[in-house]
Amino acid sequence: MTQEEYMAFVAAVCGAEKVTPHEFEDKRLFEACQPIEDLAARGERTLCFGPMRPVGLDDPRTGRRPYAVVQLRREDAHGETYSLVGFQTRMKWPDQKRVLRMIPGLENAEFLRLGVIHRNTYVDGPRALDPTLALRSRAGVRLAGQMTGVEGYVESAGCGMLAGLFATAEFLGIEIAPPPETTMLGALLRHVTASAARPFMPMNANLGLLPPPETTKRLSKTDRKKAKTDRALADRDAWLATLDARLLTMPDAPKLATFR
Ligand SMILES: Cc1cc2nc3c(=O)[nH]c(=O)nc-3n(C[C@H](O)[C@H](O)[C@H](O)COP(=O)(O)OP(=O)(O)OC[C@H]3O[C@@H](n4cnc5c(N)ncnc54)[C@H](O)[C@@H]3O)c2cc1C
Repeated sequence: MTQEEYMAFVAAVCGAEKVTPHEFEDKRLFEACQPIEDLAARGERTLCFGPMRPVGLDDPRTGRRPYAVVQLRREDAHGETYSLVGFQTRMKWPDQKRVLRMIPGLENAEFLRLGVIHRNTYVDGPRALDPTLALRSRAGVRLAGQMTGVEGYVESAGCGMLAGLFATAEFLGIEIAPPPETTMLGALLRHVTASAARPFMPMNANLGLLPPPETTKRLSKTDRKKAKTDRALADRDAWLATLDARLLTMPDAPKLATFR
């Protein structure tokens, strides 16, 4: 989108009719999954720093970076159906069609499914789960994935591997240390089993979860990220090296190699 197209789009999003949540609906929204109209209402440029961010997407025809972009995700093998990434919305359906058709290239789009807010069901992990993802109220039952309060594909898969690892260890009668909090899986595990924040909210993987680097030097933003990442990789390897070899060789053991 050019700046003009983007500004017209944002104005249309802000002016569109929205569905009002029912009284009984919980109105708390997950920060990383805000509806586009809520983002647009924060400021006219908010969307182009969020789901419409053009960074790294120079137009091959002009060599120039567009003002804003949308990402289409292919939904079927034939490439006939696409979804708009990061476009949660509560706009009423006739308005969704009108507003989304303002996106260049989508003027004649046919809509197979319109946007609705999805509900995310998760337990209050710090109260319900022990440090190995087992239910405090029912020994031997472990939860994994989004229902523990991690959010996202990789996070859910990683949480599943941890739950499998803890279950395997319990089965074999082996004690294992959880991954250190300086690693992303360790930090997510800590969040869902021990976060003190109230109300408890789901969490994506993000570098903010990792403790600050141990240095007295003032680091630039890039160096801080690198220091956290380097430490996470080293600590992960050290942690993997402490795991009992039986965990790695059981036929049904979680595929620890994929941690790498
Ligand atoms: C619209 C939308 C867009 C998203 N986009 C992204 C994205 O771009 N990137 C990203 O990382 N994450 C995204 N997410 C989040 C991501 O989808 C989830 O975090 C992830 O799929 C959770 O994985 P999971 O295996 O824990 O749960 P799910 O993928 O929800 O799997 C749970 C499974 O259990 C089944 N089930 C439920 N109840 C029962 C029952 N009683 N008996 C038997 N089976 C049952 C369900 O049918 C489902 O198949 C998105 C989510 C939504 C809703």
